[in-house]
Amino acid sequence: MFIKDIFKEKKVVFSFEIFPPKTTTSLDTIYKTIEDLKDLKPDFISVTYGAGGSTIDNKTTLLSSLIKNKYGIESAAHLTCIGSSKSDIETILEDLKKNNIKNILALRGDIPEDKTSNGEFSYAYELISHIREHGDFGISAACYPEGHLECRDLDLDIVRLKQKVENGADHLVSQLFFNNNVFYDFLERCSKKSIDVPIEAGIMPVINKKQIERITALCGAELPEKFIKIMNKYEHNPVALRDAGIAYAVEQIVDLLSSGVRGIHLYTMNNPLVARRITESVGSIITSLNKDIIV
Ligand code: FAD
Repeated sequence: MFIKDIFKEKKVVFSFEIFPPKTTTSLDTIYKTIEDLKDLKPDFISVTYGAGGSTIDNKTTLLSSLIKNKYGIESAAHLTCIGSSKSDIETILEDLKKNNIKNILALRGDIPEDKTSNGEFSYAYELISHIREHGDFGISAACYPEGHLECRDLDLDIVRLKQKVENGADHLVSQLFFNNNVFYDFLERCSKKSIDVPIEAGIMPVINKKQIERITALCGAELPEKFIKIMNKYEHNPVALRDAGIAYAVEQIVDLLSSGVRGIHLYTMNNPLVARRITESVGSIITSLNKDIIV
């Protein structure tokens, strides 16, 4: 099923993101993670693609296929295009079709440090057009409530986002953020530009301080004072930090749902325990919202 059609059936969509293990690590752990996550009945699970196309022997396709064909949960395979030729992408698309994978999260990927790219794509909107021309896929794209790191002009970033939607993206997933007001402002900018595809809010629970520092340095998310206080207070107590991080994420999600946001995409960091605690905390809210009829 296409993700856009899940949004037609449900008032609120709740989904997970996982990443394939590093090439040297065995797949057994991720199989167990998926087993645990499937019990939480997400609407779909997306699987990331190695930076710069580094996912050797395409674990993204393998895991997306397992989620969809073994466990019967819809999946979305991330796909980056920087450094790839058009025929590289076509080969991957054929593989996805053969594996009955219906949804792709189409991305540019990060520019390599040496800034060289011998590929045929410069931006995600070109990949989106290419996918549209070569198959019947649901196409998701990334969006950035605080602007992408290479483009801090928020209005220009929305113009570029609109281009991805015009080229065929029918669903958006946001970069993580810790201040919901940033996301509400972003939704307003999208609405003013008539971007009317479903937009899911990307939520990342804090699991440890180092991880959050690294990720926010990479994406530039604002850290609210309340959030910094939690990190500083519990940084040397991993269990307390994890519990406070879960509570923070739950509070964010409850506020987003109460404000009418229709999709929550949980960056699980392959941690089923954290995903379970969050899902259990917001499950009754999502169930009750989904009982309301879509008008
Ligand atoms: P684009 O939409 O192409 O944008 C990249 C930059 O180019 C932006 O600054 C944009 O403003 C600018 N731009 C766009 N169009 C133009 C134009 N016409 N002219 C000039 N500038 C333009 N990375 C991975 O490697 N693997 C993953 O699995 C992965 N999953 C992700 C999932 C989500 C939900 C998100 C938010 C990010 C993910 N990323 C992943 C990271 C992503 O690859 C990087 O953020 C990357 O730098 C940008 O990708 P994009 O698809 O948003 O690029």
